[in-house]
Amino acid sequence: MPANGNQNVFMRRIVRRGLLGVAVAAPLIGGLVVSAWPGPGWHSGPIATDLDLEARAGRFATAPIIKTAAIEAAARPATISRAVRVARGDTLMALLVRAGAERAEASEAIAALRAVFDPRGLKPGQKIDVGLAAPLDGAAKGKGRLLSIGLRPSVERDVRVIRGTDAAFVAKEIARKLDRRAVAAIGRIESNLSLAAQAAGLPRRTMAELIRMYSFDVDFQRDLRGGDSFEVLYEGLYEQDGTLAKSGDILYAALTLSGQRLALYRFTPKSGRTHYFDAKGRSVRKTLMRTPIDGARLSSGFGMRRHPILGYSRMHRGVDFAAPRGTPIYAAGDGRIEVAGRNGGYGRYVRIRHNSTYKTAYAHMSRIAKGVRKGKRVKQGQVIGYVGTTGRSTGPHLHYEVLVNGKQVNPRKVKLPSGEKLKSADLTTFAARRAEIDRMRAAANGKALMVSAACPGADGALRPASGPADNGC
Ligand SMILES: [Zn+2]
Repeated sequence: MPANGNQNVFMRRIVRRGLLGVAVAAPLIGGLVVSAWPGPGWHSGPIATDLDLEARAGRFATAPIIKTAAIEAAARPATISRAVRVARGDTLMALLVRAGAERAEASEAIAALRAVFDPRGLKPGQKIDVGLAAPLDGAAKGKGRLLSIGLRPSVERDVRVIRGTDAAFVAKEIARKLDRRAVAAIGRIESNLSLAAQAAGLPRRTMAELIRMYSFDVDFQRDLRGGDSFEVLYEGLYEQDGTLAKSGDILYAALTLSGQRLALYRFTPKSGRTHYFDAKGRSVRKTLMRTPIDGARLSSGFGMRRHPILGYSRMHRGVDFAAPRGTPIYAAGDGRIEVAGRNGGYGRYVRIRHNSTYKTAYAHMSRIAKGVRKGKRVKQGQVIGYVGTTGRSTGPHLHYEVLVNGKQVNPRKVKLPSGEKLKSADLTTFAARRAEIDRMRAAANGKALMVSAACPGADGALRPASGPADNGC
């Protein structure tokens, strides 16, 4: 049972999000505009029919064909607009045919699409907008039915295939107008970091990154105490209506644990490998991560214990992290795969050799990740497999071992060599970047103050080192 487990939670939002630094992407059209094109033979130009399918997407069911809208364009063939979702194992051809397109036309449209997007990059669940000429008196089939395809390969861009004036398909790419903002989140941990992060509005992905960047130094099971706090400055891409389209990188984070503040800045040295450095330019990246999994609970420590299956006491030569089946497991450090496969009581097992001294081992996996085979190189943080309960195991968990000179040691106690320290030119660039980030933090915290100024009377407020005090509303 971890020290800060599921105690009764008393949670307060300390600071609301502050926003700043609006950098606008290329000018552009938000949402998809579906044009009702004339049928074959028409060359009088498109009638722009604003059918913002994207805005309605939230109401769509998940059935393959989720929306059919007929638009009557005066005295011209009407357009049917269908939003179809990509099914598992689907091809774009199959999807277009399902939506009502002729194979030959679908094939032409796909060929045009390839100029801007590789259809193999489609993901299950992705939405494709298909524009078709409306059937006339049930005589639906025939050349010229397929008019357009629209899809959004990423939140940053839309792709459209439409018929040009000569009736041939042309593809175009439209950059979407999103606001890039730096967002501050500050919170106090009453019992549990995820709850505090959630209350501060931190997106899930950002929360996972926060844990990963501190996983070298902080044991999240043991080191957190009520009253500890965090500050995070992260980037987000926002839609015009203010909803978060995509959370970006953490630029800065600080954890204050038992009064000690550990602040980290994101920086890319000349080596090109971006990671996090303390204020003095020392990397937090160590040779090995102590916790090679996100959001897991330590369920069994290193040392003597009564074995749950064998029933007698024996040495537990690793640490166990309870996590749902399928949770990704990361390589704790750069290295080469030494073993990957079934290994007796260990079940599906991977062992990585990091250098002449260190190895790490991972057991009971449900599945070993693709490409993880004996002799292959892996990078720190790369997914090597997924939590399971294979071998001698009572439930889904990761059994993790660190071996020093071939002998298992306690991963929580082992002293790990530290990473690089920035020098000369890198250090100068870093100092400038750090000052810039600190200015952004001050501005973000200023906004946060305005939000919380309306609710006085709270006590025990967190006072960010750089910003004005807030009152915890
Ligand atoms: Zn174990």
